Amino acid sequence: MLEEAKARALLARYEQLVEEARGVAVRAGRSPDAVKVVAVSKTEGLEVIARASAVGIHEFGENRPDDLVLKQGRYPLEHWHFIGNIQSRRIKDIVGRACLIHSVDRVSLFERINARAEELDIVQDILLEVNVSGEESKSGFEPGQVEEALEQALSYGSIRVKGLMTMAPQAEDAVVRACFKGLRELKNELASKFGDAVDLCELSCGMSMDFAIGIEEGATIIRVGRRIFSEDFAGVSN
Ligand SMILES: *Cc1c(COP(=O)(O)O)cnc(C)c1O
Repeated sequence: MLEEAKARALLARYEQLVEEARGVAVRAGRSPDAVKVVAVSKTEGLEVIARASAVGIHEFGENRPDDLVLKQGRYPLEHWHFIGNIQSRRIKDIVGRACLIHSVDRVSLFERINARAEELDIVQDILLEVNVSGEESKSGFEPGQVEEALEQALSYGSIRVKGLMTMAPQAEDAVVRACFKGLRELKNELASKFGDAVDLCELSCGMSMDFAIGIEEGATIIRVGRRIFSEDFAGVSN
């Protein structure tokens, strides 16, 4: 395919996704602008980032520090979200490059994130990843640990917790919905407990297969990869 045709196809997939997301939000009684789409570009090279940027996609999600360093370095004006596993020795590469780190899954990361943010003289926005479904294979705080984690995060001046993130199990819709609903309820509970001490405004939940359920359950950010970037992604979300 010619570059022009590839760009047109990418834009069409993106626009369709955005339209669907806005429609779901409205039908759920929410504002069509309530949900931000993060285009998960983790499997894509620089050429595709360039194409995406050219057609107007400006929020990207990466799950490997090396890719974040490379792509953010080349396209520093785009917004980069870090959504992957965090090794503490790579924190120096993530903080500052990511506008939002979605995947903070243990208290021991706070110290280093905070120290690096201080070094850069920034406040790093983060989300706490929660293992709502309780699957052993998933990372994240147990729901019962999040309050204590948030309490601790508050003592670091260069970290700002903006909300919660989760990944649903690959399961039937009812199970996915229960997971996202659990995340929302936990956020609301914490928001009322902590009051003005925190501004928990973000819920990052929903991917290619389950973003509609995420939006119905209150997602403010959906992280979508294959539905945007794959030419032959067959998954149809409800
Ligand atoms: C890969 C990934 C996504 C996107 O998944 P798709 O099914 O391609 O939409 C979202 N969130 C995280 C944490 C991921 O690793």
